[in-house]
Amino acid sequence: MLREVVQRRDIHGRGVGELSLIDTIRARAGAGRGLTKSGRGPVRLGIGDDCAVLRPPRGHDILVTTDFSLEGRHFRRDWHPARSVGHRCLARGLSDLAAMGAKPMAAFLSLALPAGFWQKAAGRRWMDGFFSGLNALAGQHGVPLAGGDTSTAPGEAILADIVLLGSAPRRTELRRSGAKAGDALYVTGALGGAAVELAALSAAPRRFARARADGTHPHLFPEPRLAAGAALRRRKMATAAIDLSDGLSTDLRHLCEESGVGAVVDAAALPLGGSLRDALHGGEDYELLFTARPGTRVPRALGGVAVTRIGEITRSRTVLLREGDRTTTLLPGGWEHSL
Ligand code: ADP
Ligand code: MG
Repeated sequence: MLREVVQRRDIHGRGVGELSLIDTIRARAGAGRGLTKSGRGPVRLGIGDDCAVLRPPRGHDILVTTDFSLEGRHFRRDWHPARSVGHRCLARGLSDLAAMGAKPMAAFLSLALPAGFWQKAAGRRWMDGFFSGLNALAGQHGVPLAGGDTSTAPGEAILADIVLLGSAPRRTELRRSGAKAGDALYVTGALGGAAVELAALSAAPRRFARARADGTHPHLFPEPRLAAGAALRRRKMATAAIDLSDGLSTDLRHLCEESGVGAVVDAAALPLGGSLRDALHGGEDYELLFTARPGTRVPRALGGVAVTRIGEITRSRTVLLREGDRTTTLLPGGWEHSL
């Protein structure tokens, strides 16, 4: 619903023929256009009609996830560059698909902007940054932005909600619930780097104004582990998996609860991207945590990212941390999604 916005924009002296916000989004949804136009790929009809039309590959199930990105809760306009907000908005959904080994099909974005935002040059610049961050990641993973909704926010905060649809061959998706006592516990990449960068960002946001998605910004530009997740699923290597959005101590507990098991994490084995505390409790690393049968040969890297064995699954339903010869309960202390 954009008529209202377009009209106000005219009051502000913009030409009638100038692109509306939806037209701009549509023109910039590059990753989607290519797939839609060719008539191939899962998106048969993208932005422009009342609904998008999707067709999953034969014999596949559809996996759906939705994530809020709310100003003041998940990002701050005075800290996060707009590109980072767009990137992170999509990355959160993609990471959920990665955790289940799904291949992304399409993204849908609902956006609420403060009144008058899009009419001001600064607002349009912000949107430009937001979509360049989102589209760059979408292009990298070939996921079309196939629709959404646009409205005026009731207050001054920018609100975005992203829906991701993915597909996986029937009954092959990775779930949280398949871990068994004796399974080994693995993690991709490094843990804690996002918490370290968030602390640095809050101390000196201007230093990060030009940050780019170059693999060196775990908080601002996390890389969803789609290739690793897909490889785990294809090779039937994992008994259970979850993505680390809330921190190892919290997400491991989720996996254990769903599987009805416990775990022991070996502190010395953790691939640290920060302090031990950051690795255990810092959120938003968006790495994959998974389990495999003790006899499974798990390679040192999957989908271009390192894989580290960090512990094992136990029968008793407790989550423990082993540091030398001291073993303590690993209490959940993950990210609470407040800035
Ligand atoms: P309707 O009123 O029928 O819901 P809209 O005018 O809201 O349609 O949207 C027109 C088209 O633009 C639809 O195809 C919709 O999916 C798409 N669209 C609207 N907002 C967004 C957005 N924020 N991102 C991507 N596509 C959008
Ligand atoms: Mg309609």
